[in-house]
Amino acid sequence: MIIDQHNRVVDYLRLAVTDRCNLRCNYCMPAEGIDFAQREDLLSIAEMIRLSELMVSMGVKKIRITGGEPFARKNLMTLLNVLAELKGIENISITTNASLIGPYINELKALGIRNINVSIDAIDPVRFFQITRRDLFETVMTNFHRLIEAGFAVNLNCVVLSKQNTADILPMLKLSEQYPISVRFLEEMPFNGGSQAFNGIEWNHTRILEHIKTVYPNLIQLPAAKSSTSVNYTVEAWKGRFGIIPSFSRTFCGTCNRLRVSAKGDLITCLYADPSLNLRSLIREGASDAELQSAIVKAVKSKAKNGFESERLAQGATNTSMASIGG
Ligand code: SAM
Ligand code: SF4
Repeated sequence: MIIDQHNRVVDYLRLAVTDRCNLRCNYCMPAEGIDFAQREDLLSIAEMIRLSELMVSMGVKKIRITGGEPFARKNLMTLLNVLAELKGIENISITTNASLIGPYINELKALGIRNINVSIDAIDPVRFFQITRRDLFETVMTNFHRLIEAGFAVNLNCVVLSKQNTADILPMLKLSEQYPISVRFLEEMPFNGGSQAFNGIEWNHTRILEHIKTVYPNLIQLPAAKSSTSVNYTVEAWKGRFGIIPSFSRTFCGTCNRLRVSAKGDLITCLYADPSLNLRSLIREGASDAELQSAIVKAVKSKAKNGFESERLAQGATNTSMASIGG
């Protein structure tokens, strides 16, 4: 078991398989993209498999594949085929913009992968284009519906962006009336890779909830898992539910169970922290499993109490794009 200095069991790995992406969401990266990692600086699929196996042997029970756009990574399915067979993993999930997932939906289903987070920030095609800077709304919506029809547990993630998509909040929410999905509204965070100035947020979790309550005053709050980042609700007779994630307000840090590995192999103990160490370098220097394990245990031991403490200690994490960290 991996336990941090605050007695939290860390059993959830978020693995970024690439920092590249076919979209250019303006709250994530600039129009020209970021300084993408060179191929040789990326963890290879074999290195990701080794690290995943190692971490599962240390007590990790859940792995989320993220990026950049995971389906932009060549041979992603090789990794997923191995993870799907790994004893000890209880949950493999994927976060995707759903624009490239189409050809893989049947194989994902056959592998037994159930949980897919789809990021869609606007239900209006014009606003979708303005945010993502790419004309892929139809493809994304088609794949979103295919995933639901195929029986995946779909979370639809929407980052609430002041002056950009607040008109989409209620129409997005309505999707959970019709479909058995969870629509989750996230606060914007400062990780936009220098795309735009970030001066805090106008739409925090309280404001989002108040806005929803103006139309749906009788919300039913749902029980949540201890380490859940979202506060979840539904409306009577709706098929799905919705949640609000205070990702910038960071009210959930106390029960954090997460560890991140970036596409370059950086081990990151908190979204707001600088990387603790680089696992790719250790692997390529010939580290044994025992040496990797002890480096991971040591890094987790110094995991900050919460995102505010991490931010205070960090040198420059907030200049980073979320595509490099993995969200
Ligand atoms: N490309 C995939 C996608 O968009 O789902 C996976 C990677 S993306 C970095 C993971 C998540 O981070 C997405 O849900 C995205 O909306 C979110 N994200 C990116 N930049 C963010 C920011 N500045 N604040 C809050 N969430 C952000
Ligand atoms: Fe790409 Fe996801 Fe970042 Fe959008 S949020 S640019 S889809 S990595």
